[in-house]
Amino acid sequence: MNSSADASLDASVDASPDASLVTPSAAGHDTAALTTQLVHHAYQPPAGFAAPQPPVYKASTVIFPNVAAMRAREWKDKTSYTYGLHGTPTTYQLEERLATLEGGEQCLLVPSGLAAIANVSLALLKTGDEVLIPDNAYGPSKALAEAELQHYGIRHVVYDPMDPSDLAARITPATRLVWLEAPGSVTMEFPDLAEQVRICRARGVIAALDNTWGAGLAFAPFDLAPADGDAQARLGVDISIHALTKYPSGGGDVLMGSITTRDQALHLRIKLAHMRLGLGVGANDVEALLRSLPSTALRYEAHDRSARELARWLQGQPAVAQVLHPALPGSPGHAQWQALCGGHRGGEGLAAGLFSVVIDARFGQDAVDAFCDRLRLFKLGYSWGGPMSLVVPYELASMRARSTPHLRPGTVVRFSIGLEAVEDLRADLAQALQGAFGAL
Ligand SMILES: *Cc1c(COP(=O)(O)O)cnc(C)c1O
Repeated sequence: MNSSADASLDASVDASPDASLVTPSAAGHDTAALTTQLVHHAYQPPAGFAAPQPPVYKASTVIFPNVAAMRAREWKDKTSYTYGLHGTPTTYQLEERLATLEGGEQCLLVPSGLAAIANVSLALLKTGDEVLIPDNAYGPSKALAEAELQHYGIRHVVYDPMDPSDLAARITPATRLVWLEAPGSVTMEFPDLAEQVRICRARGVIAALDNTWGAGLAFAPFDLAPADGDAQARLGVDISIHALTKYPSGGGDVLMGSITTRDQALHLRIKLAHMRLGLGVGANDVEALLRSLPSTALRYEAHDRSARELARWLQGQPAVAQVLHPALPGSPGHAQWQALCGGHRGGEGLAAGLFSVVIDARFGQDAVDAFCDRLRLFKLGYSWGGPMSLVVPYELASMRARSTPHLRPGTVVRFSIGLEAVEDLRADLAQALQGAFGAL
C-alpha cells in the first residue's frame, strides 16, 4: 500500500459528522449531544503520521461516501474496499508481502493453514472429481479429504511421493487437483518437486503445493526449473499454500494461512469460494504477522543451523536407528533437497528447523514415551516454527496407506527446534536418552 493509496482511502472513508446533525451542547452537560458525539466526533488527527509498523485497520463495516460509490466498489482486485471480509488496507499489505515472499502475483489470507487447504479444495473440486494426495501429506489434509470431501462425492487417491511414475499412473480424466508437499510431514521425504509439476503440467492438472516447510525461503515454488521447450519460461506450481502459523508467525500464538497464485483467473476462483465460505481473518492477528514477518529469514536460518547440528549429533546416538532430515546425506530424498535448496549460503543449503528420528525397534512405545516425558526444554506440543523447541511421538502405522521400506523399524519422534542455545538442547536430549534408554 503506497502513501497515495492511503490518502485516497482517508478521503473516501470520511466518517466525520455533519455538525448540523449533532445537538448543540451550549446548554451545558447535554447527554444527548454527548452520546452522538461519542459516535460522530469532529476531531480528525493530523495527516502525515509515519512509524515503522503499518497501521491496523479494523473493520467489518466499510463506509462509503455515497450510494454511487457503494455500487461502484470492486472487491476483486484490491482497488477499493467493500466489507471487512473482503479485505482492509491491513490484510492487503500482508497479502502483497507474502505474494512477494513466495514469488507469486496474488495472495489470499485465511484463518489457518488447514483452512487454506480446505479453501483451495472446495474452490476447485466438485462431485465426481478426484484429488491426489501424497501418502506423507500433513495428516489433517488427508482427514479433510477422507471425511469431508467424500461427502461431496469427491474422491481422493493417495500416491507415492517418491515415485513420479506412481503419480503419473494415478492421474485420470477425473483428476482436477494434485497436492504436493516438500518434504512430507513427519517422515520428511523430499520429492522431485520439479518432476511432479512437469507431470501435472503435461496432464493439464492443477498442482498445489503445501509450502509451509519451505516458507518461501528454502526454494521458490513458482520457479523450480526451466520450463521444457522454452528457455525463457520457468516451471512452477499453480498454487502455494502456507501455514503462516509456523515460521512467519514465529511465536506459537497465531493461526493463519495464505494461498498464493500467479494466475488471476485461478486466484479469482479461489477468492470467490473464500468469500462464500466467509474465511476472513482478524486484524490483530494480521498485525502480529506484519510484525514478525521481517525477521522470518533470520529466524529460519537460526532454526536450521541448530536443527542440523542436533540432527547430526543424534545420528551418533545408539538408541537412534535413523535420522530423517532432508539436508543430511542418507535421508530419503536428500539428493532432491540438494538440487532444489542446496545452493543457499555458499552450498550449505537451507532447510527448516524440523526433523524426525526413528528410535530403534528394541525400545517399545513405553520407553519412547518416557524419553519424550523426560525432556525439559523440549515441550510436548503440535505445530512448529516458534521460539520453543517441541517434540511429538508418532504412531506411523496409523498414518500411512503404503508401506515405508525406506524407514528403519522403530518409533518415529519429531522435533521442532526452537531458538534456545543449541548446547542446552543437546544436553536436554542427552539426559533424556540416557534416562529412557540407559547407557548403550
Ligand atoms: C501446520 C501445518 C498446516 C496447517 O496449519 P494450521 O495453521 O495449524 O492449520 C498445514 N500444512 C503443514 C505442512 C503444516 O505443518
